[in-house]
Amino acid sequence: MVLVNVEDLHFSYGMIQALKGINFKIDDYKMVGILGSNGSGKTTLLKNISGYLKPSKGNVFIMGKSVYKMRAKDRAMLIGYVPQDMYFDFEFTSYDVVMMGRTPYLRRFQRETEKDVNSVKEAMTLTNTWDLKDRCVNELSGGQRQRVYIARALAQEPKILLLDEPISHLDAKYQIEVLSILKQLTAKGILVFAVLHDINLSSQFCDFILLMKDGEIISMGPPNEVITAENMKIAFSVDADVIRNPITDTPLIVFSKSKGMI
Ligand code: ADP
Repeated sequence: MVLVNVEDLHFSYGMIQALKGINFKIDDYKMVGILGSNGSGKTTLLKNISGYLKPSKGNVFIMGKSVYKMRAKDRAMLIGYVPQDMYFDFEFTSYDVVMMGRTPYLRRFQRETEKDVNSVKEAMTLTNTWDLKDRCVNELSGGQRQRVYIARALAQEPKILLLDEPISHLDAKYQIEVLSILKQLTAKGILVFAVLHDINLSSQFCDFILLMKDGEIISMGPPNEVITAENMKIAFSVDADVIRNPITDTPLIVFSKSKGMI
């Protein structure tokens, strides 16, 4: 079954055309990396898939249904969105923040049920945040907070998880930890889209890559097909060598002196 079908998606911020006809289909629970230079339209694409922004033309179908025709509540049960960062004015604990993910399931004025509590506990266990449950979320480190936000989105029990730069501010250990968690989610039947900047980690962890430039997808497919020297030149204006990573057998980009890049 086609899980996500993006058809001729156009979006503009006033005069700025941020998406200029995006088309792709994803038919399996994969880890999809969205790569591209700053301003290429990655965040705008995520926000259109989530239904937060509405395109000027085109459509996004999730499991056959247009995202823009769904009730907000139904959308929240299907799609989880993890923004780059969130700040809470109030001193919420991590547990409170993850429980917010259950909002679409709660009836008005109803207290959370055992099912809600179990769902929160499961999401926090999966993201290794259960031991942070009583800590104030604003006082956590970047890596800890990122995992709490992922838990919050997971508590929605989504089929599609969208993450905007989930590892950009993390050290190597947490980067690998977060990517490994995301990879595990695909095995549990969640389709993951993540905006990523690290090309070599994307190459290792993603099953499929969408490479963007100026509001368009210039290449898509498995890392082998997308991470090429030619595409790196077009997308990022860099001269790189692309070799095989001898350990993972995935494409590895290297900047060498001969290319004048260092
Ligand atoms: P990326 O995530 O790849 O860095 P964005 O989707 O944030 O790219 O931005 C795509 C284009 O839209 C850029 O030209 C950016 O300047 C513009 N843009 C993004 N957000 C806004 C906004 N809120 N108002 C006006 N222009 C915006």
